[in-house]
Amino acid sequence: MMNVQLTVPSMMERAEKLFSKKEVVSKSSKGIQRLTYNQLIKRTRQLSSMLERIGVNRGERVGTFAWNHHRHLEAYFAVPGIGAVLHTINIRLDPEQIVYIINHARDKVILFDECFLPLFESIHHKLPHVEAYIIMSDENKLPKTDLPVYHYENWIKQGDASHSFVQDLNEEEPAGLCYTSATTGEPKGVVYSHRAIYLHCMALGLADSAGLSEADTAMPIVPMFHVNAWGIPFAAVWFGTKLVLPGAFCTSETIAFLIEEEKVTLAAAVPTVWLNFLQEIETRPYAVDSLRAILCGGSAAPKSVIREFQEKYQIEFMHAYGMTETSPVVTVSRLKSYQYSEDFEYQLNVKAKQGFLVPGVEMKVIGQNGEIAWDGVEMGELLLKGPWVASEYYKDKRTEDTFKDGWLYTGDIVTVDEEGTIKIVDRTKDLIKSGGEWISSVDLENALIAHEAVFEACVIAVPHKVWQERPVACVMLKDAYKGIVSSEELLEFLAPQFAKWWLPDDILFMDEIPKTTVGKFLKRTLREQVLNHYQK
Ligand code: ADP
Repeated sequence: MMNVQLTVPSMMERAEKLFSKKEVVSKSSKGIQRLTYNQLIKRTRQLSSMLERIGVNRGERVGTFAWNHHRHLEAYFAVPGIGAVLHTINIRLDPEQIVYIINHARDKVILFDECFLPLFESIHHKLPHVEAYIIMSDENKLPKTDLPVYHYENWIKQGDASHSFVQDLNEEEPAGLCYTSATTGEPKGVVYSHRAIYLHCMALGLADSAGLSEADTAMPIVPMFHVNAWGIPFAAVWFGTKLVLPGAFCTSETIAFLIEEEKVTLAAAVPTVWLNFLQEIETRPYAVDSLRAILCGGSAAPKSVIREFQEKYQIEFMHAYGMTETSPVVTVSRLKSYQYSEDFEYQLNVKAKQGFLVPGVEMKVIGQNGEIAWDGVEMGELLLKGPWVASEYYKDKRTEDTFKDGWLYTGDIVTVDEEGTIKIVDRTKDLIKSGGEWISSVDLENALIAHEAVFEACVIAVPHKVWQERPVACVMLKDAYKGIVSSEELLEFLAPQFAKWWLPDDILFMDEIPKTTVGKFLKRTLREQVLNHYQK
């Protein structure tokens, strides 16, 4: 067979030849902007020629610090198109972490949204490698600043709309770089090769995974600074899928509005987004029946959320599991053909798990006594390998803790049932170890959120003299139930569902549960808050 290199520019070239009329819809401060792929690709070529002109060389890193919009999408292809590396920076990190990763990556140029100018003005003196900033602004002219900046729109106008992408790329060359949001220690960088991005996109297009196709209208709500918005922007362009990019500070209202207006068929986001979205469409009627499915990942979605999508709205709910280190998609929760004849509750239980491996990825699950049985009960750590699974962290000594014997140690504790469906029980560090046994915080959270009064629930381990650790639940009630529902009532609700020793020792009511930059519960901070509460 021919040894054809699997590269990112070839994906855009396909869209250019076949899908020039298809659209990218981008929400900006000026309203909705529409570009055809033809226009988008010309602008991408202009951007790539300008990046070369200011001296970005092959292999060098170009940072982006931006929301989901068409200019960010242009950078997604223009940067790998010149053989440089697209470093998507998480805008929600602390300034010190942002400085750390920009310096660690040695970004030469950074493209950022205008709203982030004050941040870059305050950290520029700490970024010795950054030579230029390009402001992705909706306004016609540059804001006043002393930084070395270019105005994206005016600047790319000088570029060549027929500039050719690098032709002799090797598929193993780096195309992307993303840092994990690291809840402890400094973030760790993961480099994505052209080949990994290409093959991961193919997996997104498989009918048995997300089944992304030309006929879809896809809306990644998951930020483009978080694991490449799960690869959707790359895949959508390649497949000629209409793409809807929801812009800055995206609210549930915006999401519902765009789904209705643009007839979105597939949207992707973390569970908290979907939880709020359900509330929004509950209070105001929107036409959301264009949605054929939603993709939900990043943390486990409560069964009640899945039930509502499936039962009330007849929208297929697909859990997707993965991590920054895996590009990210590893499993998708789809029913097997013979499971469609099972009853709704059975199907719901399958959907509430994280699914089985997409073709291409392999797994091994190691428990306390070696590989675990596929019985849905025994727990162990999930190990992964595959062509879009990282083999190391970027210039980081912590590589050896996570990558061993050709496997990625995910730090996720799972069970596997006889169908090979995995269920994330916990992250190693969140698992509650009580008297030598393991309690899953995720199971308790799911059970709590099924109570009508509970809006959010997060269960953490607190140290215990006798049992080593015990679970404590932190609950945010829905407004209408505040002061009405007691912790005893919630414990009674849990009691029939769990062994006695699984039940939380305490239930604390909170006005807010702290979250990470990507909307996951920040258990470490919560644990500190709870310990402080007990010490008072
Ligand atoms: P970080 O590691 O900084 O939290 P990632 O986005 O890489 O950022 O997080 C990956 C982790 O998120 C996984 O290791 C797993 O614990 C969790 N996760 C991802 N998808 C799911 C899912 N569908 N269900 C449950 N947990 C998930």
